[in-house]
Amino acid sequence: MAAKQVAVVGAGIAGLGAARRLAQLGFQVALFEREQSPGGRARPVVREDFTIERAGAIVSSADRALMGWIGELDLPELLPPRPVVSALAHRDRVQVVDSRSLSGIARIPGIRIHQTLGLLRLPRLVARYGNRIDPERPERAASLDDRSLADFGRLYFGARVTRHWMAPLVSRTSLADAREASRVLFLHQYRDGAGGRLGLLRASSQELIDRAACSVPAALGACVANVESRSGGGVRFRVREAERERTAEADAMVLAVPAPEAVALAGAEFSFAERDGLEKVRYTPEISLAVALRRPFHPHPQLIQFPHREGWPLESVLLEPGLEGGRVPVGRGLALLRATGRWSAAYFEAPDETVGKDLVAALGGIFPRIHGAGIFAEVLREKRAVPRFDVGRYRAIASFARVQADRRRRGRRIYFAGDYLMGPGWNAALRSGYRAAADIAEDLG
Ligand SMILES: Cc1cc2nc3c(=O)[nH]c(=O)nc-3n(C[C@H](O)[C@H](O)[C@H](O)COP(=O)(O)OP(=O)(O)OC[C@H]3O[C@@H](n4cnc5c(N)ncnc54)[C@H](O)[C@@H]3O)c2cc1C
Repeated sequence: MAAKQVAVVGAGIAGLGAARRLAQLGFQVALFEREQSPGGRARPVVREDFTIERAGAIVSSADRALMGWIGELDLPELLPPRPVVSALAHRDRVQVVDSRSLSGIARIPGIRIHQTLGLLRLPRLVARYGNRIDPERPERAASLDDRSLADFGRLYFGARVTRHWMAPLVSRTSLADAREASRVLFLHQYRDGAGGRLGLLRASSQELIDRAACSVPAALGACVANVESRSGGGVRFRVREAERERTAEADAMVLAVPAPEAVALAGAEFSFAERDGLEKVRYTPEISLAVALRRPFHPHPQLIQFPHREGWPLESVLLEPGLEGGRVPVGRGLALLRATGRWSAAYFEAPDETVGKDLVAALGGIFPRIHGAGIFAEVLREKRAVPRFDVGRYRAIASFARVQADRRRRGRRIYFAGDYLMGPGWNAALRSGYRAAADIAEDLG
């Protein structure tokens, strides 16, 4: 029997993961990417001899899907990750922290030892929530999605533990504001990865992306539009390439594109509830400033996070010293200053000069050496950098999952993948792709 054909739209991490997994399961896969190169929001930027990672530079040993993927793609030059020293800025001083153990949390500046005792309840609390805290099935947490991380943290563990440990833990990948983020986001990150060790991929993530894209037939510069279900099953769609436009068909399709793009390319296929669910997905914008340094500030990579302060622009700064074969030339350094989501939204349209001056001035308070240390600076902006998982988002995911289950039962063969369905970041995006592949295997296998 001929292999069933599956079209995957979008060569971001979710689409690349779905396409490869489907090919491994014996499907005939065609991957379509609108841009000329794969990677989506994970694609790094290259300037002079520096590769600037917008995402994914920092990985965690707890990112099992991601680590497994890198291993499968046989990229030994990326692993093992370079250990990252974690630090928190407190009163204009930087203190190294180990927030993976209770004794480490007790030493975080701003937290008093007795305040950490409340955290002894956390494992019991998470155990009581049982399989509702399952980062692979976020819809299961709908009934816990009733309060913000800030309210939850203050109620159970106190304001200081919330501000200095819980909020930075979630903002590292999601840029989330604890006052709006759902407590489920924290519970997922705690359950899934709080014990993980942070590290940097040793070389550019572009190698990973290119290797993944090469492992399946991929059409680059191919924009998919007008997706519709065929009356006899499967899908029909238009593909726009530079020189031509054509109609194609497949037995199933994975839409591995951000929520607004999914509506734009297949909106006519969706029920009101689906369209509404997709249109309500919100994203946090991100501004970051990469400063190429004449000399590294530290011999080892260091991630310094800044606890929330009203009006303060910086979420974190990553200091990366050069490495042979790495992203930063040997003897040089890179400082990646990441603005908070709130500041990024407020300053998104501000000129580069203003952005650069404000971010460098903020960092200058603890690292006066930053002034005059740069070879060049590059401002990076992304309007829809990371999906928001605010209170209510997990209930919305649960409703969306119910509608999807119903559509699948009725024979519709359009599936969704992307970070907005699973959680912020690479690892979650990859898992969402695997999930779509598993659903297709169940329906068509
Ligand atoms: C500035 C920034 C910083 C980040 N920091 C981190 C971090 O530190 N850690 C972390 O883990 N994550 C981080 N992330 C998030 C991470 O990059 C994303 O979660 C992940 O890359 C999302 O992958 P995706 O496949 O879901 O979506 P995307 O990467 O958006 O992929 C979607 C793809 O679909 C393509 N597409 C869209 N429409 C069509 C169409 N009609 N036809 C064909 N193709 C189409 C797009 O071109 C794109 O390539 C960051 C993101 C940004 C932007």
